[in-house]
Amino acid sequence: MKMNQKTSNLDYLSAFIAIVGPPNVGKSTLLNRLLGSKVAIVSPKPQTTRNRVLGVYHGEGFQMVFIDTPGIHRTRTHLHRSMVASARATFSEVDMIAVMIDMLHPEDADMTSILKELKKSEKTALLIINKIDKGSPEVLLPIMETYRQRFLFDAIVPISALTGDGVQGLIEELKARLAPGPVFFPSDMKTDQTESFLIAEIIREKIFLFSRRELPYSSAVTVQNIEEIPKKTLMKVSAKIYVESESQKAILIGRGGRMVKKIGQSARKEIEGLFGIHTFLDLVVRVEKNWSKDPKALKRLGY
Ligand code: GDP
Ligand code: MG
Repeated sequence: MKMNQKTSNLDYLSAFIAIVGPPNVGKSTLLNRLLGSKVAIVSPKPQTTRNRVLGVYHGEGFQMVFIDTPGIHRTRTHLHRSMVASARATFSEVDMIAVMIDMLHPEDADMTSILKELKKSEKTALLIINKIDKGSPEVLLPIMETYRQRFLFDAIVPISALTGDGVQGLIEELKARLAPGPVFFPSDMKTDQTESFLIAEIIREKIFLFSRRELPYSSAVTVQNIEEIPKKTLMKVSAKIYVESESQKAILIGRGGRMVKKIGQSARKEIEGLFGIHTFLDLVVRVEKNWSKDPKALKRLGY
């Protein structure tokens, strides 16, 4: 222990907080809203978040480190298995757990295993009921009552991650439960994700947006190179999209390259918005057979 540590640090409050819940309830949307910038991929299709995303909320004299996890599911493939393991491990690592549900689907099948893990963990836990913009108090109140009677949560907080309604109240509820702790991250650090990871995630989000069925789930993105050209205030990014078969590759490229162009243009716009710099994005599509089932390939692609 360092002896010259400032005593004022003893007043500092901090915690690691996991955001868990079934797919599609709005975990990534909330994380992005809390941080005021995009650090997590958001998609109307389930299970888009493959890796854990860490986001830091900086307040006056306190810090909350959020971990947006992939959901806990019973699934068979290696990709899904590694996602489940990562969600489980998170429960033991954090100080607090925020379980999120969708107001319109309060009894999602995934909740059983989440609540089981929660009980085992014996951690401080909040229930976030999200998407209250989609329904009335008559829908909300019975859900709150049902969960209250289960005595699993220290607080129940209804919000809309999309509109921001209730989010300030959520921050207050979390803050009230912080314990003295270290300054984990410097005040200018919002996420542990690298530039290349954020770019890869944006590209992956666009694949989800523009392609259908199994294709987005069979796609992985890696960023090969980022080069800044200072005088031209331009960033050159080369990225590869991996799919599992030649036919998927053909679909993703599209007639006359139309599909990959659409993905690239949309991703480029968002990358420019995030980093504030003109961007040249070079996208290449490659076949990597069965990557989602091959543990070695998963590792190589960063999962
Ligand atoms: P995750 O899988 O839990 O991370 O969910 P996402 O954050 O990716 O969100 C899934 C979908 O729900 C996206 O289409 C979001 O725009 C949408 N969504 C998230 N929060 C809200 C909300 O408060 N209200 C409404 N109406 N939609 C939301
Ligand atoms: Mg997500």
